[in-house]
Amino acid sequence: MPRLENKVAVITGGSNGLGQAIAARMAEEGASIVVLDVDPAGEKAVTKLGVSGNESRFIQCDVTQEGQIKRAMEEAHNAFGRIDILVNNAGIEGPNKTSEHYELADWERVFAVNSTGVFLCTKHAVPLMRDGGGSIVNISSIYGIVGGGDVAAYHASKAAVRVMTKNDALAFAADNIRANSVHPGFIPTAMVDRFVEDTGLEMRDARPMLDDLHPLGGMGTPDDIAWGVVYLASDEARWVTGAELVIDGGYTAR
Ligand code: NAP
Repeated sequence: MPRLENKVAVITGGSNGLGQAIAARMAEEGASIVVLDVDPAGEKAVTKLGVSGNESRFIQCDVTQEGQIKRAMEEAHNAFGRIDILVNNAGIEGPNKTSEHYELADWERVFAVNSTGVFLCTKHAVPLMRDGGGSIVNISSIYGIVGGGDVAAYHASKAAVRVMTKNDALAFAADNIRANSVHPGFIPTAMVDRFVEDTGLEMRDARPMLDDLHPLGGMGTPDDIAWGVVYLASDEARWVTGAELVIDGGYTAR
């Protein structure tokens, strides 16, 4: 039996990168998929999820805009009759600067997407999940656990998500709504391309350095993360809440 049969999953930032891979694996496992993203490419991406019997939908939505989120959650719930899974994946890296050099507006923008976006999506999904229980999976980062000495706002915003997840796990346990965080190491996506560009390096020079940070064979793949999210969303994880799933090829094992 597919691991997510009859479940409805809302995935933010599902037009590209990790979110797209998470959507694909969840669809394969029998879930209906609703992608919320600012990038309209998600419209096409969801049509490619096509596993027979599954349904999918793209809703253009900015996770910093509460009105858009409320409408999107209601649209998802009206379309499929339930929301079982919320994957808070949308995120931005922000400028690659230390705290000393960070502009306040840049800091607030990173927090708006990476932390406030998680709060707002959770706020508007929970009332619609309460009937049947559910699973919230928040995509944090290894940089929500350890420092890297760079991208100051990214670290702080991802760390906020880590404890927000634990607090939500406690707050919603009585409703059988679980909340867990996932902490990926480096995965080659557009985000990492931009991060490398911001350092002034060429990817061909940066890649070996990034690979070396991960003892288990270099950088990971989007699927390495997607399978962890499938597990946390599934009933196999029925007794798992408030946990941190680190998927980083050993980066933080040192
Ligand atoms: P990505 O390739 O840049 O994809 C992120 C997606 O989120 C894009 O479709 C983006 O749209 C969308 N998005 C950005 N701001 C949004 C907003 N305000 N509202 C709705 N959607 C928005 O990034 P990724 O690498 O897949 O990262 C996905 C998540 O994993 C992020 O939370 C990231 O911090 C986390 N993560 C990534 C890595 C990694 O190495 N890749 C490691 C650890 C954690 P646009 O493209 O139009 O901006």
